[in-house]
Amino acid sequence: MRRSLIMGNWKLNGSLSMLAEFITSLSDQIDALKMCDIAIAPPAVYLHEAKKQLKNDRISLAAQNVDFNTGGAFTGELSPQMLKEVGAKYVIIGHSERRSYHQETNEGIAKKFALLKETGLIPVLCIGESETENAQGLTQTICAKQLDAILAKCGPDAFKNSVIAYEPIWAIGTGKAATASEAQKVHAFIRQHVSKGKDEIAKTVIIQYGGSVNASNADEFFAEKDIDGALVGGASLKVNDFLKIAQSA
Ligand code: 13P
Repeated sequence: MRRSLIMGNWKLNGSLSMLAEFITSLSDQIDALKMCDIAIAPPAVYLHEAKKQLKNDRISLAAQNVDFNTGGAFTGELSPQMLKEVGAKYVIIGHSERRSYHQETNEGIAKKFALLKETGLIPVLCIGESETENAQGLTQTICAKQLDAILAKCGPDAFKNSVIAYEPIWAIGTGKAATASEAQKVHAFIRQHVSKGKDEIAKTVIIQYGGSVNASNADEFFAEKDIDGALVGGASLKVNDFLKIAQSA
């Protein structure tokens, strides 16, 4: 049975005091959140401190990006091993903000995916179509292309013990979430596409929805059978909102 994963992607937000507040509140309430796994992805500079403060292993840490090199002359980059050492369990890769502002390609993202698996970290692969692609009926084509780059690099078992976040670009930070049934259709497609008939992968790959999830709409998403939690941006910055979302899972 899959467990839902509720992950807060803080993006370029947060501070040491916000981190401390989050860890205290989440730790106090974690026993009431038995139905899902919880993770926060603060900026990487806070991971080490977060790990030190976390007393509860039910709350996991995620990084928001990683390099596809393991070391060397790559100024400004972080390796999977470094992220692992400071306490990350998951690493978000391929977020649409990185694809568009940092020109990340499917091939580069596939290299990151492979390296994370080798290092024993769990990739959270973000995929999703733009508004124009959605209007042109290209949602499945775009998602398939993004997934195929990973399958080509890492083989048919790539998505075993991995997480995919379906984040339609037009829904991110806009307040215009996909409807739960729209998202469910795409999630069912993704699950079938990555498992190619292999039951073990179909049953275990976690597929989160992301894009304007909030405390009021989360339960509609989580009621769908192929939606295994959420990757939450804006609403993950207020601990009470984040907790409410997790309570809906
Ligand atoms: P919002 O929840 O702010 O729409 O952001 C979603 C997202 O990009 C999570 O990675």
